[in-house]
Amino acid sequence: MQIKSFEEYQKTYQYSVDYPEQFWEGIANNFQWKKKWNKVLSWNFSEPNIKWFEGAKLNITENCLDRHLAENGDKPAIIWEPNDPQKESVTLSYKILHEQVCRFGNVLKKNGVKKGDRVCIYMPMVPELAVAVLACARIGAVHSVVFGGFSAKSIADRINDAECKVVITADGAFRGSKQIQLKEVIDDALIGCPTVERVIVLTHTRMAVSMLKGRDVWWEDEIKLVDTNCPAEEMDAEDLLFILYTSGSTGKPKGVVHTIGGYMVYAGYTFSNVFNYQPDEVFFCTADIGWITGHSYIVYGPLSQGATTLMFEGIPTYPDASRMWQVVEKHKVNILYTAPTAIRSLMSFGEEPLNGVDLSSLRVLGSVGEPINEEAWHWFDENIGKSKCPIVDTWWQTETGGIMISPIAFVTPTKPSFATLPLPGIQPILVDEQGNEIEGNGVNGNLCIKFPWPGMLRTTYGDHERCKLTYFSTYKDLYFTGDGCLRDEDGYYRITGRVDDVINVSGHRIGTAEVENAINMHAGVVESAVVGYPHDVKGQGIYAFVINPNVHNDEDLTKKDILQTVTRVIGAIAKPDKILFVSGLPKTRSGKIMRRILRKIAEGDTSNLGDVSTLLDPTVVTEIVEKAGQLK
Ligand code: ATP
Ligand code: MG
Repeated sequence: MQIKSFEEYQKTYQYSVDYPEQFWEGIANNFQWKKKWNKVLSWNFSEPNIKWFEGAKLNITENCLDRHLAENGDKPAIIWEPNDPQKESVTLSYKILHEQVCRFGNVLKKNGVKKGDRVCIYMPMVPELAVAVLACARIGAVHSVVFGGFSAKSIADRINDAECKVVITADGAFRGSKQIQLKEVIDDALIGCPTVERVIVLTHTRMAVSMLKGRDVWWEDEIKLVDTNCPAEEMDAEDLLFILYTSGSTGKPKGVVHTIGGYMVYAGYTFSNVFNYQPDEVFFCTADIGWITGHSYIVYGPLSQGATTLMFEGIPTYPDASRMWQVVEKHKVNILYTAPTAIRSLMSFGEEPLNGVDLSSLRVLGSVGEPINEEAWHWFDENIGKSKCPIVDTWWQTETGGIMISPIAFVTPTKPSFATLPLPGIQPILVDEQGNEIEGNGVNGNLCIKFPWPGMLRTTYGDHERCKLTYFSTYKDLYFTGDGCLRDEDGYYRITGRVDDVINVSGHRIGTAEVENAINMHAGVVESAVVGYPHDVKGQGIYAFVINPNVHNDEDLTKKDILQTVTRVIGAIAKPDKILFVSGLPKTRSGKIMRRILRKIAEGDTSNLGDVSTLLDPTVVTEIVEKAGQLK
């Protein structure tokens, strides 16, 4: 499946456009099916109705586990690094992982879970989380993983939306220096969740928890009561694999639905290609399994390819800012896949935390989640990759199931802050507001995809109309990503941020990411967020929230300095009209800035800021509102 040269990429890409079904059929043949498909693809984007590999039968866990046992049974499948560096790490071989998944699959069955039932998983980043996910897939249940940090209300909403029958959780979680109650949050959530019949609780922090008779059982007790014989349920390619609620940075969370066959093919194909994974390498994705990145590139992608995947329970700055690099050294990580927010945060500690850490095992670096600004890109390249590791800036979404536009390591020449080119099989198109295709290079537009790919969402759970409205109605016969995009003179793609984040200043369309990129280039600035607000003269003005920079002499002068930098980098047109220094930005728990809140603040409309419960730290909002009120 792996593409080896740029020439091969170009040929393969063309083939995938000319003969998409043959192309994907070829990829799908690398996986194990109980029965092959009758039809590769049937689709329309108007309902939408998308079916890949119709008629095929499979179980994804046979692809992720069973098929590796004969030759790689003793190979590490999961390496787990705990939050506390003093504690032992844990390695699960493919054989052991297979056994644990089978055993826990039987626990689920014993507790009444049947094929098609929804199971909510709310757990810390421990190996049992991966076991729980795979055990659901083993028996044909649909998992809905909720990040172990969401509030009771957010969990209850998600459980009720999916009508989950069982919840899998733990007593608590370790996160840096904190201990987080998980079971207690679940108890609060379940007051309003009538569909939940059983809660399975893993002991992890061993904090006191209430255990309700008849509803709550311990993981450790349950696994003693079952054996490890759990045949993989035969599933249809288009049966549901999981529901995953998007982070909510743009409103009420949507239950994105992925189905088994297409998702498996896509996660495996993209993992193998983009990162150029080689046998015996250690792959470290720093995301949480509560996000799509963790689903696709901690669990399903790597395991389907027989890779060794590293799971890290902690945070990059605990016990200090060298922790992530220590983890890389300790486990001889070859491929490191992380997010710009983490890179920027670690960058702010300077090079000192890197002293004496051996990063020579690294071969490929990856970034995901938001546009990576140039400064962070270069820092990552020089200090972590020592200018010898390709950086794959991977653009994709919960809805796309896997990476869509990205360099292929060692194949695609990279360019800072560009996601570069679409993977073979992906047909991006830029359109204007009316949906007309914008052809040629050196152009900006709204990013859409014009042909289906196996990993795409099939619906939003329980509300197909919402799926249609959100993704398939803006432009006829196109999947609309919601992102703005530049295709430069070389045909390279650069994501400029969400379309609602494009600011129209005196008729010029400026991406918020572009302005942030320029502001962040200013010495002493670590991070910023930019939104538009109504402006009498320009139509829209630019409002910049900048995390307290090193103030040189005086605050007003520092603001002027920043304006100078923006003028030099982009031009006077992109100069913010207002700059506010703040101590933090409202971020979702996946590290994304919730711009809709900043937009409201910039508009002076702070009476109804909407749902802030998915924010990492809702108190930053109070500070920003106060300070903004004082800004002229
Ligand atoms: P919601 O849809 O609920 O608002 P979300 O969009 O933040 O949440 P995700 O699916 O995790 O949830 O994120 C996908 C979005 O992240 C993309 O649409 C894009 O805006 C941004 N993104 C992801 N990767 C990149 C990247 N490499 N470069 C630029 N932007 C990226
Ligand atoms: Mg989104």
